[in-house]
Amino acid sequence: MLIDSHAHYDDERFDIDRDEVMKKIISHGVAAVVNPSTNLASMRKVLEMSESYDFLYAALGIHPHEAVEFSNSSLDAIREMSRSGKVVAIGEVGLDYHYDFSPRETQRECFAAHIGLAGELKLPLIIHDRDAHKDVIDIIKSENANFTGGVFHCFPGSIEMAREVLDAGFYISLGGTVTFKNARKPVEVAKYIPIDRLLVETDSPYMTPVPHRGKRNDSGYLPLIVQKIAEIRNMEVEQVAQVTTENTCRLFNLHLSC
Ligand SMILES: [Zn+2]
Repeated sequence: MLIDSHAHYDDERFDIDRDEVMKKIISHGVAAVVNPSTNLASMRKVLEMSESYDFLYAALGIHPHEAVEFSNSSLDAIREMSRSGKVVAIGEVGLDYHYDFSPRETQRECFAAHIGLAGELKLPLIIHDRDAHKDVIDIIKSENANFTGGVFHCFPGSIEMAREVLDAGFYISLGGTVTFKNARKPVEVAKYIPIDRLLVETDSPYMTPVPHRGKRNDSGYLPLIVQKIAEIRNMEVEQVAQVTTENTCRLFNLHLSC
């Protein structure tokens, strides 16, 4: 049994065959999926999907790319939507200085506000940290994000960066990048993280693992990621599957039989 801790099934690339993909996921032993949102329209869609598919859980938040859209009314909308029992996290939120699609100051304000909201709603955070590690760490400390905790998703950083994330009390999630031929840092991090702080994810439809790179990703490929991590850590696949599933249930307070 596996849990995909991060996938975007509201993405328009699933519009043509979403139902079929959802059936396929279950047949691959994936027991639950956490689907973060990226903006207000995405939040509505994810929430609706979480009501249609038992195994799909929602995270609500405004992605750093979309931070220009953020206002206090976004927070009110999240408060309202979070009453659904299927909302398990605030995300994905954070900073992205690689693409800089929103001004950095706006991204920082949006991120800090979401941390406050996570504290208020007692929900863990799903954090996106791309080329902005120092500011992300500074903000989670200054906003006391350790009270809610959460996960740094699709972690791209070094062992030193991973150490800061773990010291701050957060989990680290790894995805398809561990299977890439040029993967050095993700492999080092996969080896380094204490197993009780590790989650797995696909980040579908992105980050498709080898040997399917270039295709649309979905949670059916999650076993390939778990197998690779087991190989890197010299562990049994079943053990990695079991512990990462338990970690995901603990973080998001999921009551599956895990
Ligand atoms: Zn994502």
